[in-house]
Amino acid sequence: MGSLRKRMLRAMHRFCISRPQALWKRYILGFIFIFATISVSHWASLATITAAEDDAEVLSVSSRQRMLSQRIMFLMTEASHGHDAHIESSLEDALDVFEASHNALVSREDLSSELQALYFEKKPISLDAFSRRFVQMVGIASSAQGEQAEELHEVLTRWGTHELLTSLATASDLFRQSSEARIKRLQIIQKATLISALTVLLIEAILIFLPAQLSVNRTIHRLERSKKRLKTSMKTLRAKNDELVAARQALMRAANHDALTGLFNRRAVYEHMSGSGNSAQGGDFTRCILKLDLDLFKQVNDSLGHDAGDRVLVRVAKILQELTRPGDFVGRIGGDEFVILIDNPRDLKMIQDLAQRIVTAVGKPIELDRIQTKIGASIGFTIAASSDATPDQLLIEADLALYEAKRGGRSQVCAYSNALAEEIETRRILFNEINAALEEDQFEPYFQPQVYTETGEIYGCEVLARWRHPERGIVPPATFIAAAEEAGMIHQIDQIMVEKGLDALEVFMELGMYVPAISVNASPPTLRDPHLTDRLLQAVHARHLPPSVLTVEVLESTLIENDDDVALLTIENLSEAGFSVVLDDFGTGYASMSNLSRLRLNGIKLDQSLVLPVPEPRADSIISALVTLSSNLNMRVVAEGVETPAHFETVKRLGCDVVQGFGIGRPMPQQALIEWYNEYTAQQKRAG
Ligand code: C2E
Ligand code: CA
Ligand code: CA
Repeated sequence: MGSLRKRMLRAMHRFCISRPQALWKRYILGFIFIFATISVSHWASLATITAAEDDAEVLSVSSRQRMLSQRIMFLMTEASHGHDAHIESSLEDALDVFEASHNALVSREDLSSELQALYFEKKPISLDAFSRRFVQMVGIASSAQGEQAEELHEVLTRWGTHELLTSLATASDLFRQSSEARIKRLQIIQKATLISALTVLLIEAILIFLPAQLSVNRTIHRLERSKKRLKTSMKTLRAKNDELVAARQALMRAANHDALTGLFNRRAVYEHMSGSGNSAQGGDFTRCILKLDLDLFKQVNDSLGHDAGDRVLVRVAKILQELTRPGDFVGRIGGDEFVILIDNPRDLKMIQDLAQRIVTAVGKPIELDRIQTKIGASIGFTIAASSDATPDQLLIEADLALYEAKRGGRSQVCAYSNALAEEIETRRILFNEINAALEEDQFEPYFQPQVYTETGEIYGCEVLARWRHPERGIVPPATFIAAAEEAGMIHQIDQIMVEKGLDALEVFMELGMYVPAISVNASPPTLRDPHLTDRLLQAVHARHLPPSVLTVEVLESTLIENDDDVALLTIENLSEAGFSVVLDDFGTGYASMSNLSRLRLNGIKLDQSLVLPVPEPRADSIISALVTLSSNLNMRVVAEGVETPAHFETVKRLGCDVVQGFGIGRPMPQQALIEWYNEYTAQQKRAG
């Protein structure tokens, strides 16, 4: 039972709470229904009104018949008293009206059964027949005379005051009753249709308005709930959006900035260079690109650690930001490489001043981990004047200028120029040629003899590199040593000189010549090679020669330039291994006296610039002092650039141990040296 109720309720519910989209069917149905019922009701009202009018007329006609019957009776009586034309015509008129009205009444189609019976069926005579006879008889009576007339009058008076009058009154009553019944019927119809219209409206209200209202309520409720939900999700969305915006900004910053220094990064620099300026800003636009590279940064990183290195970079970034103007674009594009882009600089001097100020500021000593450290900055710059040079090209130009600045020594500023580009291009070609020359084995040793001043005996010879160029012939070292050093190829040349020099020494020995040693030149990069001692040991051991046959000439400049631990250590190792080490070009640099005492050097080579002026009192006394110093430090003194007998005699007198110079013999190929040797020893023998 319960489940049935439930099911019914559910069905009801489903019926009532219809989907709002489907309600339109109910609307149409209800509308048709209401329209129909109201139409019927309206028709019923109209019909009632028409019927009421009609009935009123019928009633008035039927009641007039009674009146007319009395008038006819009166006129008939009057006419019987004497001939009067006026009364006769009035009687005729009354009879005409009575007859016409009667005809009108009996010809009606809607006569009720009672009226039908009264008019046509009543016994002994129907009202219809009675009325007609009455008219007939009045007609006859009005023209009758005498007794017949009296009789007729009597009959007619009886009829007129009794039978006919009663029948006409009955007819009139029946007409009223029939009319009342008809109006009642119509009223019932009207009422019924009105009630059904109202019922339909009520049903509509239940089936349409109620479900519609319910579903509107539900929808509003749902909407309110989703509005609330939306509000909360909007809030979270907004928060998420804020987060995203912040993240995007951070990303943008990270994408364009260097995390360590906060300066722009390489990407941003390129973007800035290709995005704005140059062509975009028209003819007058110029832009200066300064590129800065730190000197000695690697050493800081290596010796003090990366944290210290990072601090140096941050400090440099700060300096750059402080010294540039707000509109300038400062970026870090590599480990210790920075760029500054200056748009429309006032003049060249302003840029040079700025660069110089930066170099000075960066070059100031800093304290890292309580250690005083010094780094430096080299700057190269180029100015792009409304050309369509690409960022790459401009950076390359600035880079070339920077390279030149570094080449010229540390903490320098250099501007890019076409001449510089040409020079660099020439150098690049030279690098390639040197590389090819190494592959083609075009480097060969020349030998320059060195002899003792006292005995004239051969001390040894210096091995000097020559480049046997297929087209240019013998190329002197001045052309290629610096380039080979720069290109990182000098250690190969130095090694070749060692190998070929020792080969030659073997030949000299085999020929029975007395050449106790050869000297080779070790350029700064060679000296910084930690395996140099091993390689030299291998070279002598491979030929079953003792290390003492090899003297390594190191440049005084090597030692001052870098205050280089590696080079000092190599010198130490070379001495330890039994090689001789002499300080070359002594007097041209500023070899610190501390180096002289610290290093285990076997000797110094006085530079030709010291020797060539002799004999001359000041020059003589310098040499004399150096000789004293050297002998105190147990070092041999070789005088280079001895060209004349006067040179020879002077340096000999001043105490130099060994001489080397054009006066003894020029640098020459192996075969020439053999010939020189033969001649020299013969001459020595002759002399005594
Ligand atoms: P250096 O080591 O000082 O070599 C001596 C230079 O002085 C040689 O020039 C020699 O020809 C020149 N010379 C010798 N005696 C006299 C003289 O009486 N008067 C004059 N005017 N000059 C004299 P060279 O051979 O042209 O070498 C030039 C420089 O090239 C050398 O100077 C050396 O620094 C470098 N060099 C030569 N060969 C090599 C090498 O194999 N390796 C390295 N690293 N450097 C080398
Ligand atoms: Ca030398
Ligand atoms: Ca020298």
